[in-house]
Parts: sequence; structure tokens; C-alpha cells
Amino acid sequence: MSQNKKMAELLLGHITKTPEYYEELYPARNLPEGARVVRIAPSPTGYLHLGTLFMALVNRITADSTGGIFYTRIEDTDKKREVEGGIDDIINGLIRFGINIDEGFVTPTEQKGDYAPYKQSERAEIYQCFAKKLIEEGLAYPCFCTAEELVAVREEQEKNKIRTGYHGEFAVHRDITVEEAEALIKEGKPYVIRLKSPGSEENRVFVDDGIKGKVELPENDEDFVLLKSDGIPTYHFAHAVDDHLMRTTHVIRGDEWLSSVPKHIQLFKLLGFKPPKFCHVAPIMKLDSGAKRKISKRKDPEAAVHYFAEEGYDAKSVIEYLMTIASSEFEDWRRANATEPRQKFKFNLKKMSVSGALFDGDKLNDVSKNVVATMNSETVVEKLCEWAKEFDPEFYEVITRDIAYTKAVFAIDRDCPKPRKDIAKWNEAKAYSAYFFEEYYTPCLEFPENIDKDSIKAFLSEYAKVYSVEDTKEEWFGRIKAICPSLNFAADTKEYKANKEAYKGSAGDLSTVLRIAVTGRRNTPDLCSIMQVLGREECIRRINYAISNI
Ligand code: GLU
Repeated sequence: MSQNKKMAELLLGHITKTPEYYEELYPARNLPEGARVVRIAPSPTGYLHLGTLFMALVNRITADSTGGIFYTRIEDTDKKREVEGGIDDIINGLIRFGINIDEGFVTPTEQKGDYAPYKQSERAEIYQCFAKKLIEEGLAYPCFCTAEELVAVREEQEKNKIRTGYHGEFAVHRDITVEEAEALIKEGKPYVIRLKSPGSEENRVFVDDGIKGKVELPENDEDFVLLKSDGIPTYHFAHAVDDHLMRTTHVIRGDEWLSSVPKHIQLFKLLGFKPPKFCHVAPIMKLDSGAKRKISKRKDPEAAVHYFAEEGYDAKSVIEYLMTIASSEFEDWRRANATEPRQKFKFNLKKMSVSGALFDGDKLNDVSKNVVATMNSETVVEKLCEWAKEFDPEFYEVITRDIAYTKAVFAIDRDCPKPRKDIAKWNEAKAYSAYFFEEYYTPCLEFPENIDKDSIKAFLSEYAKVYSVEDTKEEWFGRIKAICPSLNFAADTKEYKANKEAYKGSAGDLSTVLRIAVTGRRNTPDLCSIMQVLGREECIRRINYAISNI
């Protein structure tokens, strides 16, 4: 038996399966030409944040645009940093945002697909099998350095201004013999398995990144760790083994991994795997005192996806907005295809921003107003109630007291061909609808300065006499116009514009007076509809209040 084989048996003798076994178990996928197999591989070391949601969306639309597969894989190799409920939060979050998962963890507890298990902690034997192969080929070896020794080497390197890491002369266990390894193991010394890198820092590797284009990086010469002392792989090794066996065609991930690509390419080659296409996505940025910086979990509330739920953004709004960040072509497409599902959008990774798109809250609000405007009143009220129940229970009580009334409130200017685009998120709904609910309505009698109080009083008194809730919009305005001549206001706008000096104001001015008397605001949706919903009694009460308090 060769020395390498002996070493492999010494270290991983319990592994009896071969790489061929796994190649057969996880065969190439039978997909049409061009279909991309993509994934997100979250580590449950935190909760769903905007970056992960964005990455999931970019992967999802890549699969959608090519008739491919989007799967999830849980990278739980760092048990120390794992947070409880992390997996649930991430997977449920994706589902809530409408990111459909084809394979892998389709719910927090259910794995689906032929390439299972999709959780790294359940794949230890697979990694060990491929590590064994590398040891047998003399491409990996055990390293018995302690953490203290490694720190000391690093400090020495830093002092002498030498590139840090386990490479060249610092790779002290590179040529360890089986006998030496055996003796140390007998002493109970823990060890890791390292790659015996054949690379040199002098050499360059060329990568044709699917987003960044041609990138040139130094070749890897570091004997980095493949398996930790507990037999669990590092990210690098697990990535190569998993993305190969799960037949990933495109690795679309955050660009913090770009500098690790030489390690990954080397691993794929040494393992005899065809590397996937690497696509490195720039992070979402924020403008901070004029400078662009990465959105930060610590500083920016928007970084946590829960923020959007609390504010009351519809999941679809957030996704539509992220689509505009993913592709500058999406907005035009959306304008031309207002009602099409986003899955029909032809997404092109190559056109993604290389430097990182800015997160823009105003744009999110605009996108969201468009999304809410596509909903009918039934849906709006349903979603609003759902939100309020969780985040504003007092408002929930108020709006569910008479649900038919609430529906009528939110139907105004909505169930029509050109709905108003005035709600971006549900936490705006209380202020938006305040004058419909006695708890929130406070009269505000700030009438236009250019109209004298006597005219206002006279108009409101006249109007109160003739108002009928049965009026159509035309009849309603007709009644205002009819009062105009007696008060020397112009009933006709054109006539008013041509002859302003001859009048005190126009019918439009008087409708503003009425709007303020009834709602306390200058700007509202259709006033005739508002008055119908409020009912005659309430309208007259408010008008009389205005007459007495002006
Ligand atoms: N677990 C890695 C992370 O969360 C995944 C990176 C990748 O997509 O390969 O950053």
C-alpha cells in the first residue's frame, strides 16, 4: 500500500464509500439546454436579512428565466455561531416573500429532491469521502498545529511583513509521514486536514465572472483547511463538493467570496470537477453622509427583513423593488407589462450592477404605491387587517368594528380603472383614513385665506340644506355650482379664469371649503364618495360644527 493510501486509511479508515458511489447517487440532471441550476446556501447564523432575500431573488429569477431549478442548502457547519430559529426564519421568510423553492429545504422541516441531504451537517461522510480521495492522491494531509502555534506564526509573519497564512515554509506539516502522524494521533493530538496546494502566488488565475466579467487573481498557494478537527468541512471544501454533487451550474453569491475564487477553482480541479460559472453580486449599498457604503445589519433597520413587515410593506412591493435593483430594465418591462407575473421577465445577470445598487426608500415607496394600487379594496382591507392585528392592535379593533364600513372607506378611488396611488405601506393607513373614524378624527378648520368667513358660513349653510347622499358625482358638484351665483362665486372654471376680478372665487374653491369642513383636509380622495361613506348625519354634523366654530 502506498504511503498516501496508508495515510488516508489512518485518518479516514471508517469511510468505505468511494467518490464514484456519490457520482452515481447524484447523477447529472436531466434538464433542457441552457437551464440553470442555482441555489442559495444560507448559514443559520442570523435571521433573514435583505442581502439574503436579494440573493435568493436573483437566483430565483435566473432559474425562472432559463427554465432551471432553484434550491436551498443549509450551511450549518459553524455550530457555535448558529442562532435558534435561524433556519425557520430564513426559509419561512423566503416563502412569505413569494420566492418559490423547487428543491432542498422547501419548508423549515421538509427537504425535497434527489440530491438530499441539503443540510451540510448531515453530509459529513460525503465530504470525508472526497477528503480521503485527496489524501490518497497526496493532495491533502493532516496538520497538527495548535491554535496558539498558528497565532504565533501569524504574528511573526505580520512582524516581518510577510503574507500571513499557512503556505510555503510555514506549512510545517506538509510532508508529515504516516509514522509521524500515527504517533501524534496516539498521543491524542487533534488535527485538521489541509489541502496540499500545488499553486504559486506568482501565477495568475483568470475568471470570467458572470457579473463582474474578466477578473484576474493570484493563484492560491495556501494549504487551507478542508476538514476541521471534528471532521466537519470548511466553507471552501463543502462548497466545492456540494455544488458539484448537487449539479449547480451557476454559483450566484455575494462578492465577498470573489477573492476566494482561486481556492475554489483549485479545489474543483484537484477533485476532478468541472467548476460552475461564478457570478458575484455586489451588495446593496446605502448613502451615508454623501458616501456609498454597504448596507449594515448594525446601522440600518432596512437590513433586517422584519423591518418591512413591521412598516407594513406588502411582500410583493419589497420584491418588486428588489427587482428594480437586480435589473435596470425591470421598470420599463413592468410599465409595459403591468399585470404579468415577474417570472416572465427575462433576467440577464450580465447587466447587474458591478459596484452595488443603492437602496432608495423613496423609490421603494413609489414602487409600493403602484403595487397597492393594483389591489382591490377587498384585498387591501384583508392585508391591512392582517398587518394591524400584529403591529397595531388598537387600530385593528377600530377597523374591524364594522368591516363593511372599512371596506367602503378603502374602496374610494380604488375599485376603478385609475386607482389613486397613495398608500405605500399599511402603517400609513391610519393617517390616510383618520377622518373616517371618530377615534382619530379631529376637525381642522383652516379654510383658504382668500375666502371670507361670511361666504364660507353662507355656503356651508346653503349646502347643508340641499345635500343628499344619493347624489351622483355630477349632481353633487351641481349643487355646489348652483349655490355659486348667490355668493358671487363663478360656477364655471373657464369663466372664472377669464374674469377673476369679477368673482370672490370659484366652485372649486367652495368644494375645498366643503372638503375641509367634512374631513379637516385640503387633499383627499373623491369627496362625494367620502361623504356617502360617512353618511348624511355625520356630514351635516361636521358642517354645522364648522359653521359654529369658524
Ligand atoms: N454560506 C455562505 C454564506 O452564507 C454561502 C455563500 C454561497 O452562496 O456560496 O455566505
